[in-house]
Amino acid sequence: MAGLLLLALVLAGCVSLTPQQQEQVDELQRFADRTTLLYALPRLRISIQLPTNQNIGAVYRQGNVLVNVRMLGSPGLTKLIAHELGHYVLGHEPASTIASQSQWQRAQEQRELDANAKAVEILMRAKGMTQSEAVATLVEALRRSQRAVDRGAPITPGHLAPAAELADLLSRFPDARQ
Ligand SMILES: [Zn+2]
Repeated sequence: MAGLLLLALVLAGCVSLTPQQQEQVDELQRFADRTTLLYALPRLRISIQLPTNQNIGAVYRQGNVLVNVRMLGSPGLTKLIAHELGHYVLGHEPASTIASQSQWQRAQEQRELDANAKAVEILMRAKGMTQSEAVATLVEALRRSQRAVDRGAPITPGHLAPAAELADLLSRFPDARQ
């Protein structure tokens, strides 16, 4: 499934960006570069893709973060990139063997929770946020996603409902509860 997703994003091809959007992409790349330097990892490439018909803002895959062009300028962008960097730092490559769809789903859900928690650490280390600022960045984005789901948006493939991801995050950072 992740392979098909990547293929769909790659086939979506190149996007021409406004100077303002290019500036945002450059800032995202600098955020990624600071993160990979801090964690002593190979450089990660941020690329911008045309939207697919799935409700996906970005996807991490083998040294690349592919970002849906619609996410540029969106208030959830910082959380989104920190989360994808979390997948990279945690080494979340696609499973080589998938026994069943339900097993894939459970494993993926856990990875998403872990990437959210890692995103907090990355925002602190690479963006200089305090823990409560970093947790708040995640909390706001997850609440926004839950409101979208409540209005009928699909849950992103591999994820639990945003409210369940939020509960997991707050259980890991009880001091940041607000
Ligand atoms: Zn994810």
